[in-house]
Amino acid sequence: MVKVNENYLKLKAGYLFPEIARRVQAFSQQNPQASLIRLGIGDVTEPLPSACCNAMKKALDEMNTHEGFHGYGPEQGYLWLREAIAQNDFKARGCEISADEIFISDGSKCDSSNILDILGTGNRIAVTDPVYPVYVDSNVMSGHTGEADNQGCYSGLSYIPLTAANGFEAAIPNYPVDLIYLCFPNNPTGAVATKKHLSDWVNYAKRNDSLILFDAAYEAFIQDSSLPHSIFEIEGAKDCAIEFRSFSKNAGFTGTRCAITVIPKSVNGKTVNGEEVDLWALWNRRQSTKFNGVSYIVQRGAQAVYSLEGKSQISSLVSFYMENAEIIRNKLLKVGFKVYGGENAPYVWIKTPDNKNSWEFFDFLLEKANVVGTPGSGFGASGEGYFRLSAFNSRQNVLEAMQRITSI
Ligand SMILES: *Cc1c(COP(=O)(O)O)cnc(C)c1O
Repeated sequence: MVKVNENYLKLKAGYLFPEIARRVQAFSQQNPQASLIRLGIGDVTEPLPSACCNAMKKALDEMNTHEGFHGYGPEQGYLWLREAIAQNDFKARGCEISADEIFISDGSKCDSSNILDILGTGNRIAVTDPVYPVYVDSNVMSGHTGEADNQGCYSGLSYIPLTAANGFEAAIPNYPVDLIYLCFPNNPTGAVATKKHLSDWVNYAKRNDSLILFDAAYEAFIQDSSLPHSIFEIEGAKDCAIEFRSFSKNAGFTGTRCAITVIPKSVNGKTVNGEEVDLWALWNRRQSTKFNGVSYIVQRGAQAVYSLEGKSQISSLVSFYMENAEIIRNKLLKVGFKVYGGENAPYVWIKTPDNKNSWEFFDFLLEKANVVGTPGSGFGASGEGYFRLSAFNSRQNVLEAMQRITSI
């Protein structure tokens, strides 16, 4: 019989979102008249920008002609899209990233786990706690960890706590690691990293020869103009960082699928014999073998994000969600909640009141307000006692949910 990858058996069974679904379903069965509002999901709710839809319609019509038909595209993505990204996301912010250092993919969730394909075993790995679960689970699946303890922490990983006590800042470790995952603006806490903080990380990485995997999926939500949108705004980052970006959250491509992975040509890893190897070349080889590109139609849609019309529509989308976040923050602050995040990120991270643990507060909100959120402990042991509310929703739902929560 075929042997399975037993690392999958180490994954925690009671995974966050299935457990939420189970509790919501049980509640709905007992309370069929209750109208639930879901502020728990990390998915967008507003329609795609019309600039993107029009570009995709046009591309689809081209595909119906001999002259305009496109079969397999470049595995790295079409150059016109990579050039628009290099110009608008990087050069415009002073980052010297060239189009050939940019790879187009079908998702940054996918690429932030696929990247392990080109990295070896035996690396010392650090993640923040709480954390986007993909970074941890992909390492578990690849056999880079031991078993989980009863709080869900895996042996073999270093966890860097993000809590109110440290201002949700990922403290630079006083020990060396080879690989570190950073996500700012942060999911789930909504925390941000200043230039100074990212510089400290880049200096740490350069001192210790570490690689930073930087997830910038929420950069478009940054309102404070002093904050960096890319790790490549930091001097030296081109030697030690890979960045993931996505069209999912800024342009609503969660169902359409298009994302960006940036691997500067100056980032190296090494063999067990200590020989330096260019990570760009390995990733290029990996993509050419295992990936056949994102559809022409979708890449045309993504290109439209950088048109004048696209830029203005995206900025309205982001403002809409950030107004939701502001409503959530203000209403909760007014009734005495301790509230974090939500100022440069579409997530509001609240301290659960009355020393309730995250799941107790989940049940409390579900029963008393019929509002569904996400228990912080599902993102890691240090998320215990916190709760995530998402700004991805209609205005009406946000207002109604706040009305209900503030009148409990
Ligand atoms: C939503 C999200 C992404 C985007 O993933 P896609 O696969 O591009 O849709 C990446 N990182 C984080 C932390 C996210 O929350």
